[in-house]
Amino acid sequence: MSGQLIIVSAPSGAGKTTMLKRVIGTVARLSFSVSHTTRQPRPGEIEGRDYYFTDDSRFQQMIAEHGFIEWARVHENYYGTALAPLRDALAENLDVLLDIDVQGAAIVRGQSALPVYSIFIMAPTPEELERRLRGRRTEDEKGLRGRIRQAREEMAQAGTYDYLIVNEDLDRSVDTLCAIIVAERAKQRRSPDGEPIRWHEPH
Ligand code: 5GP
Repeated sequence: MSGQLIIVSAPSGAGKTTMLKRVIGTVARLSFSVSHTTRQPRPGEIEGRDYYFTDDSRFQQMIAEHGFIEWARVHENYYGTALAPLRDALAENLDVLLDIDVQGAAIVRGQSALPVYSIFIMAPTPEELERRLRGRRTEDEKGLRGRIRQAREEMAQAGTYDYLIVNEDLDRSVDTLCAIIVAERAKQRRSPDGEPIRWHEPH
């Protein structure tokens, strides 16, 4: 018996980060995999909570030491998921959310030794996606154009995921994500809180 890896991918602007924060606060025995990245921290981001901010040489060293279960170049920067903390969490019967892009998702899914399922989150329309990205004001115009183009490309991969959530209304999307996690636990003979289900006959 072990926890499961839950891959969650979404084009930037789909509302994924907000959803994941809410779900982690709601569902028991659920942890978040903090990735390593070479990109600069954004205002408000905290080392060790949002990412491990890493320089290029350290990142390359981790690749060479096989420290990542997957890594990818996204928007000009490197992002990677360290393997050791995932193993520890699964062994403790925790489910682990992996907020990774479509390239990373394909790599993790290919590792059939690990229990994994995947969820794709999308904005309701291309116009709404662009509106949300502009509203974030974290990118200059060039960066924004790149993210919009990339988002359109990523949408083409939505069909390869086990579940699809259209994030039109935040509360409903969070409910849907929680329902998926609880249903996957039931399939694994675990309670909604992630504990193994045991049946004790009276003596
Ligand atoms: P952001 O820079 O906006 O935080 O993230 C950009 C993209 O990188 C998002 O699509 C996010 O899911 C993806 N990402 C974050 N961490 C990882 C990771 O460890 N591996 C991969 N492959 N993608 C990641």
